[in-house]
Amino acid sequence: PVNRTPDMQEERLKLPILAEEQVIMEAVAENPIVIVCGETGSGKTTQVPQFLYEAGYSSDGSIIGVTEPRRVAAMTMSQRVAKEMNLSQRVVSYQIRYEGNVTEDTRIKFMTDGVLLKEIQKDFLLQKYKVVIIDEAHERSVYTDILIGLLSRIVILRKKKHLPLKLLIMSATLRVEDFTQNQRLFATPPPVIKVDSRQFPVTVHFNKRTPLEDYSGECFRKICKIHRMLPAGGILVFLTGQAEVHALCRRLRRTFPRTRHGPQEEEDQKDSVEETRKFKKSRARAKKAQAVTLPQINLDNYSVLPVDEGDEDREAEMDEEEEALGSDLDLDLGDEGADEGEQPDTSLPLHVLPLYSLLAPEKQAQVFQPPPVGTRLCVVATNVAETSLTIPGIKYVVDCGKVKKRYYDRVTSVSSFRISWVSQASADQRAGRAGRTEPGHCYRLYSSAVFGDFEPFPPPEITRRPVEDLILQMKALNIEKVVNFPFPTPPSVEALIAAEELLIALGALQAPQKSERMKQLQNSRVSCPITPLGRTMATFPVAPRFAKMLALSRQHGCLPYTITIVAAMTVRELFEELDRPAASNEELAILKGKRARVAQMKRTWAGHGASLLLGDLMVLLGAVGAWEFAGGSPQFCEANGLRYKAMMEIRRLRGQLTTAVNAVCPEAELFVDPKMQPPSESQVTYLRQIVAAGLGDHLARRVQSEELLEEKWRNAYKTPLLDDPVFIHPSSVLFWELPEFVVYQEVVETTKMYMKGVSAVEVQWIP
Ligand code: ADP
Ligand code: MG
Repeated sequence: PVNRTPDMQEERLKLPILAEEQVIMEAVAENPIVIVCGETGSGKTTQVPQFLYEAGYSSDGSIIGVTEPRRVAAMTMSQRVAKEMNLSQRVVSYQIRYEGNVTEDTRIKFMTDGVLLKEIQKDFLLQKYKVVIIDEAHERSVYTDILIGLLSRIVILRKKKHLPLKLLIMSATLRVEDFTQNQRLFATPPPVIKVDSRQFPVTVHFNKRTPLEDYSGECFRKICKIHRMLPAGGILVFLTGQAEVHALCRRLRRTFPRTRHGPQEEEDQKDSVEETRKFKKSRARAKKAQAVTLPQINLDNYSVLPVDEGDEDREAEMDEEEEALGSDLDLDLGDEGADEGEQPDTSLPLHVLPLYSLLAPEKQAQVFQPPPVGTRLCVVATNVAETSLTIPGIKYVVDCGKVKKRYYDRVTSVSSFRISWVSQASADQRAGRAGRTEPGHCYRLYSSAVFGDFEPFPPPEITRRPVEDLILQMKALNIEKVVNFPFPTPPSVEALIAAEELLIALGALQAPQKSERMKQLQNSRVSCPITPLGRTMATFPVAPRFAKMLALSRQHGCLPYTITIVAAMTVRELFEELDRPAASNEELAILKGKRARVAQMKRTWAGHGASLLLGDLMVLLGAVGAWEFAGGSPQFCEANGLRYKAMMEIRRLRGQLTTAVNAVCPEAELFVDPKMQPPSESQVTYLRQIVAAGLGDHLARRVQSEELLEEKWRNAYKTPLLDDPVFIHPSSVLFWELPEFVVYQEVVETTKMYMKGVSAVEVQWIP
């Protein structure tokens, strides 16, 4: 029995899905697999687990599992459901990659899809669970797709063992043919239950023209108009990234400051404190830039004591401390500061809140609170608000129509981040957010003709990225013929073959005989068995190339270093983005000063001689080592251009990898040492070999002067896969060194093709 509070009960009864409880529960009782479709906000995520709980699906101590593609959703939804049911988080719990609050009493468990995949590796039958719910299946994340494929088989096996498992697939769109019309996946098409959306009409307004560049500015102008001219009701704005979200939030807060005593006033004060700090700092930096003095460095223990620490800087640091306590990652975009004619308007307070996935959970929770009396709520969000979270009280949606995505070249894996148009389905989802509580309006900042050219649906992620990590995981689950796996949508044959070739080269899969291989390729039946090395690699929660490095590092005491390097490469982007446009001269001075400081620190961390040849990976090792040695503070990050969030994540991943390595190699007796000594010269040599073995297929050779036919090849490198020249990224410590052979972590295309994460290697050249 569940003892909900009367208020909560009343609120639940308003949700359309409550009317379908009986239909859903009967379908679940009669079918092993059921699909539930319903608009975002209809109550799927919060209510269906409760229906199952009340129907007794966890009464014998089993667990009702719910997977989410996003960490945010797993956490917030577990809290929300616990609250609705008046149960503690010991019973309704969550588990994400590094953390969770699952206990012996847990009956409803929200988790990311990656967590459930790992559990399948430990117990293929998932015997702890009586029901598994795959939520947000319409998002078609890679792990969601794989889980659905695996669960389609697990359901059959569990039936044979007379321990039936129920599978629910929940989607916010009606487009579920990939699940229902796929005979290989589900021989009998599962029933689809449609939940009435009880959606109020949303009037869609298109722009006459589509702004070419400045959609952020266009959003700003639209919000101002809505706020000044239209009746009460919350505004939800869709932008593409965290930096844009913050820039727009600040611009709006400046334009519509809150009156006395509000919490927002504090925020604004913080902003102005920050402005003062920046100004002070820029003065200090400007002074410094005139005479850059080398910091005094004791390489033995990584400690860093800049000798020219002025008083002004110390003041600035104190402000920073305050800032670190209260505000989020703040990035500037060049488009603000130029609000001609935008005088602060105190008569119309606007309650502005950011929302994106990396935002701290307590800040995310703010969007669910009613805004202070006399203010209008305005949430500036990334894609997270599109489907997984429903914000109450939204009447106006402003949609820039764009989304930021990572694109991979299918053959070469060269990747780039691109901002592109969303699909029609996504745009409609966004519009739908406006009609949850009353009729609403959606302002699309693009023309209806442009909308007509959008793709109807976004392609499933599995068709868009390299799949070597998935293939290794699947092989570790003894799925030999990956081609026969019941993918809802299979990855391309090229991607499958590229993944197998890489895994064979890494020694994770057994290479077939040549004749056998030809046959396989012709039938595109890729079916090499996994090797013992491959099994070990699969236990490490990192990309196969990095797993190989870990597997090779047993000797010479290299493991702690490899773990650190691998953790840093996995988390990526340790350093702040400093190549951004500056809004003012002061800011430019700050950026310049910081760039100089970071470049200097990178050189220090890279060291000389052998260690410099380890290049950017030595920088990663030095940065993590120095930060931990200095106590792991946010101030250290700020001073050295490091991202605090990234550093914290590296710390957690180091812990997790250390545990994983100890599990396969207990004699190593590893622990995470915050005072790790730098590697010795001979260890650096081993590390370079280890790195070369892991990144062996990412080899590049400098173009010799006699080969220099065209100007575009100056200082360029040639790789086996690409016809075009690639370059060492200017942020690399090897940018000036230009070693003959290098390996790289990845190639990212911006203005040119740039190698990032570069190390020098020696290659025996046999002409
Ligand atoms: P769905 O999964 O169908 O999109 P949800 O179950 O997530 O729907 O949400 C149902 C309703 O519960 C939403 O309309 C929202 O208003 C409310 N809700 C969800 N999470 C919270 C929360 N953390 N605080 C307050 N209300 C919430
Ligand atoms: Mg949901």
